[in-house]
Amino acid sequence: MSASLNKILLSENEIPTHWYNIQADMPNPTLPPLHPGTKQPVGPDDLAPLFPMGLILQEVSQEQFVEIPDEVRDIYKIWRPTPLYRARRLEKFLDTPAKIYYKYEGVSPSGSHKTNTAVAQAYYSKQEGVKKITTETGAGQWGTALSIACQMFGIECDVYMVRISYDQKPYRRAMINAFGANVYPSPSDRTQAGRNILASDPDTPGSLGIAISEAIECAVQDEHTKYALGSVLNHVLMHQTIIGEECLIQLEKAGDFPDVVIAPLGGGSNFAGISFPFLRHKFKNGSNIRCVAVEPASCPKLTQGEFRYDFGDSAGYTPLLPMYTLGHNFRPAAIHAGGLRYHGASVLCSQLLKDGLIEAVALQQLECFEAGITFARTEGIVAAPEANHGIAQAIREALVAKEEGKSKTILFNLCGHGHLDMQAYQDYFDGKLQDHYLTKEELTSGLKELEGFPSV
Ligand SMILES: *Cc1c(COP(=O)(O)O)cnc(C)c1O
Repeated sequence: MSASLNKILLSENEIPTHWYNIQADMPNPTLPPLHPGTKQPVGPDDLAPLFPMGLILQEVSQEQFVEIPDEVRDIYKIWRPTPLYRARRLEKFLDTPAKIYYKYEGVSPSGSHKTNTAVAQAYYSKQEGVKKITTETGAGQWGTALSIACQMFGIECDVYMVRISYDQKPYRRAMINAFGANVYPSPSDRTQAGRNILASDPDTPGSLGIAISEAIECAVQDEHTKYALGSVLNHVLMHQTIIGEECLIQLEKAGDFPDVVIAPLGGGSNFAGISFPFLRHKFKNGSNIRCVAVEPASCPKLTQGEFRYDFGDSAGYTPLLPMYTLGHNFRPAAIHAGGLRYHGASVLCSQLLKDGLIEAVALQQLECFEAGITFARTEGIVAAPEANHGIAQAIREALVAKEEGKSKTILFNLCGHGHLDMQAYQDYFDGKLQDHYLTKEELTSGLKELEGFPSV
């Protein structure tokens, strides 16, 4: 590889043909999701009102590789393969012997990795004659991704957007409209769940939990409508492995292999996407590659939560999932990385952490914004506030390498751009952002509510 190479590009015919299903290779299988009423493992029929059967089968599949349908691969070609960059200017600025690579998922139509699963989910819904998909969105990334995916397959799309984001992010909303979806502030008067909340608290800012309840309520009431989730579930994580599979090919071309793979973690999908294909090598060859998930210090389920059964949503509509959690009623502070403000971590990432196969670290938001600004000024990309968490950890690793005087190869996932998050940057420049230190009471109150839930 020439000393001045900045990015490693693949051609369209090098897009991987299969997603990787880590369930086939995990040393310990995950515990089953439980029905909250019967406490028995949920079966495919329990999930059928919400999800198309093609996705339910992927959720429990033990097949190591799942073929990507041609129609999905064709749509992936709009933005895939995504570039793998060598961050030479950042390396120079840090004066580190480490090599830093980043995979850039911000080139997708929605500006983040979310489109990788949105297109797949819309495809399997179309296969089964679904007419409409409902979903929630917080920061707006997922709503944007699903709206363009539904448009591609001629499916109607209703997005329930947390009211405070709906009001604060008019351009996200306009983007969802541009891609052809309907977007409603949540809580809305369109559902019983929404009307109940509005009656008791007309000025509520809303929450992801409420928006999920509204989207689910609409899906279960109409047999031609399904619901879609943008993270957490096994099939969602599997669709994202296209990221890491491309990285494997790109790094081979560069003649390199990472010592550490880093990604931010909200529910776990972009972390899984980049790290699971590398974990396959760890399982197979015993390589001691480290995979580090980065969470915000204000929502530290991996580093301070407990591994136990909990609901995936605040309202308690979902099955009970075995995961690291702070409790489904944990209310994270209003930090700017909206995509990382989720109380639990996906079942797959949780089991891997419990088994010591991945690592986790929690970072404060000021360090992350500072890292994002260093990155913008050296590499020329303004990253999403969520992605800044990965950048900050990569910088930490590079500085350790400098201190130790050792070279190492760092790979991180630049999961999205921040072009629609500039208010957050402005708030940072205006000195309005703060770090958050949780009290013991804040950390434990959500967990206390889980007493009596089935044990792991
Ligand atoms: C949604 C989102 C996240 C968090 O979700 P994961 O499932 O953990 O990936 C992180 N970054 C961006 C840019 C997002 O849109």
